[in-house]
Formats: sequence, structure tokens, C-alpha cells
Amino acid sequence: MTTYNGSCHCGRVAFDVQGTLEGVMACNCSICQRKGILMWFVPRESLHLLTPDENASTYTFDRHVAKHRFCPVCGIHPYGEGTDPQGNRMAAINVRCLEGVDLAALPVTEFDGRSA
Ligand SMILES: [Zn+2]
Repeated sequence: MTTYNGSCHCGRVAFDVQGTLEGVMACNCSICQRKGILMWFVPRESLHLLTPDENASTYTFDRHVAKHRFCPVCGIHPYGEGTDPQGNRMAAINVRCLEGVDLAALPVTEFDGRSA
């Protein structure tokens, strides 16, 4: 178990997240492709915001089940919130927003979200 520090670019949205980062998911859906996000899914309670929740704006589309949280100042999307198929609250961390992570060393699982 490791604690990672993460933030948007300007620091208005900052957090830490606890877990074991063993790999990331790249998705080709309409929003993930545009963001270039590399996702790490953790239970929502493993994500601890260090800045007020309302500092991050929320974007939803389609079925509006996934909340894409982004900084309204610098435009970076550090995480998203949603539920897994069992109804557990989850967070999708944008690993590109974490400090001290060697992105090139992480195995990437491709997810065909465009067809899902
Ligand atoms: Zn920002």
C-alpha cells in the first residue's frame, strides 16, 4: 500500500490516494481519448481530497453516471467518480496527475470503451 499525491496543474484540486498501483487502463471512448487519461480505479474512500470538493467542477454526459471532475481554472481532469457494477463507489484516478509515478513502467490495459 502506497500513498500517492496528486493534483491538477494549478493546485486548486489536490488529493492523496492510497493503494497499490500495478497498472493502468487506457480507454478509447469519446472523453478518455480526448483527455489522454490513464486510469487507475480505486474505492472512492481511498481518495482523500485535500481541497474542498467543490473546487473541482463536474462534467457528465450520456447516462450521467460517471462524474468527470476537472479544475475550472487550469482545465486538468485529475479524477472521476462513479460506481462499479456492484454499486460500490469508485474513483478513477488520472495517473498522469500523480507525483512520482514512472508512467512508462506501468502496464497499460486497453479498454474498448467506444464499443461498450
Ligand atoms: Zn487547476
